[in-house]
Amino acid sequence: MRGDGDGWVECAQGHRHWGRFGAAGLLLQRPHHPDRTTLEVLLQHRATWSHHGDTWGLLGGARHSDESHVAAALREAAEEGGLDPAAVRVHGQYDDAHGAWSYVTILGGTDRQTEVRPTGGESIDVEWVPVEEVTGRPLHPGFARTWPLLRRGLRPLRVVVDAANVVGSRPDGWWRDRAGAARRLLQSVETRAAAGLGGGDLPAGLDLLPLTRRWPSWVVVVEGAARTAADQLLDGVEVRVAHGSGDDAVVEAVRDAAAGPVLAVTADRALAARCGALGATVVGPRWLTPLLGEG
Ligand SMILES: [Zn+2]
Repeated sequence: MRGDGDGWVECAQGHRHWGRFGAAGLLLQRPHHPDRTTLEVLLQHRATWSHHGDTWGLLGGARHSDESHVAAALREAAEEGGLDPAAVRVHGQYDDAHGAWSYVTILGGTDRQTEVRPTGGESIDVEWVPVEEVTGRPLHPGFARTWPLLRRGLRPLRVVVDAANVVGSRPDGWWRDRAGAARRLLQSVETRAAAGLGGGDLPAGLDLLPLTRRWPSWVVVVEGAARTAADQLLDGVEVRVAHGSGDDAVVEAVRDAAAGPVLAVTADRALAARCGALGATVVGPRWLTPLLGEG
């Protein structure tokens, strides 16, 4: 599909780039082994005639003026790699700004069933490449430059919320209707999950690749009288009902985060210590509440 973004521009650093409104590409990962310990990423072998032809890089291309960077990256991946956009879970955006032009990398994940194939005229091939083998290929120079950084951001951030503790931190009469208070919390987390987090929204002490925006996977643990709040369907938020100890359910959600970074939200000191021992960064409800528009 041709769009109004097709065309060459010169950036402030004096390079020639494709994409009048900038370009976007998809850095997609999936587990390399069934045990999920390592990752592989989807790379495109670029057509010989293309700019920096016969190199390996990301599926991507010029952004149209009327589409988001996420939409542009997913559209290009569908056009050139036969990738179903619905199979991608986007979790981050990284801007490589050159002044007057930028290349935006969209980071996402998928599972091992996702099918890809070279489509369109710009791909010789598309291939899943183990992370450790990426630099063994002749890489597109733009991708080669950002890859050492981007590989640190391949796994999504998981935010685990101790709902009872967050709800209990606000003297708003929650004790009169625990399920209602939990339901309101879940709805505001759903809104925030869709909006994502900007770089300045993350707490200090979380040592992560500085992304322009990230869309963490959210897990909210509800327990006790609040558990009926879990009957609603939410977008982008996993609700876990603690049948035994709520603390154990929070610890479990931290433990099964598949080696990605975890932020646990609780002010319970014993629980914070257990999460911290598993490598999670722990913050109190005072970090989360303002982000939910309830500060
Ligand atoms: Zn440039």
